[in-house]
Amino acid sequence: MADSSPVSPAAAARPRVVLATRNRHKIDELHAILAATGIEVELLGVADFPDLPDVRETGVTFAENALLKAVDVAGRTGLPAIADDSGLCVDVLGGAPGIFSARWAGRHGDDKANLDLLLAQLADVADTHRQAHFACAAALALPGGGQVVREGRIDGTLLHAPRGTNGFGYDPIFLPDGYDRTTAEMPAEEKNAISHRTRAFQALAKDLANLL
Ligand code: IMP
Repeated sequence: MADSSPVSPAAAARPRVVLATRNRHKIDELHAILAATGIEVELLGVADFPDLPDVRETGVTFAENALLKAVDVAGRTGLPAIADDSGLCVDVLGGAPGIFSARWAGRHGDDKANLDLLLAQLADVADTHRQAHFACAAALALPGGGQVVREGRIDGTLLHAPRGTNGFGYDPIFLPDGYDRTTAEMPAEEKNAISHRTRAFQALAKDLANLL
């Protein structure tokens, strides 16, 4: 199952870690975060292990779902594994869409339908009650059984209409506290510098440094 292709001497010297995602962008993002903290690992994606099945996200919190994925991938690959789970939590909706963010309108990953439904649900909610945050749980699981989860969040308010074309998901209506642009109006580097994902991964990078 594991990638048996020859590795360069430099890569061979570094511990291998699998990031449980098919999203190349997330691998690059984590690479940059780890590099900034000086941690030398060879980061693999699940695409490097073609036989790995998708893990069902049966947890009811971001942390549970991130751990489910990390533990499963660590067990199947025999390598330390990192996974994340994230979403948008709206105060007036009691934290929803939360873990259902990717399929709020019914179909997984239909960003436009999800955003339109949320805007319709909040149509009568005044600006003073539109607080929300993006949350991310990042989990590290070791094949021998150790595990740790770190969480990151970014607080803000929700607009009444989309603004900006960068990012994805709910970015066009999310105005981070202290900013006058949505996360969809920010260049990727600016959003990444303050994002829930970056904050969770930065915290996890310290655990990785201690555990490897
Ligand atoms: P995932 O766990 O990273 O796949 O994210 C689940 C869902 O949460 C996405 O499909 C988006 O709807 C929402 N989400 C998570 N992070 C962000 C973000 O940074 N911007 C906008 N939407 C996000």
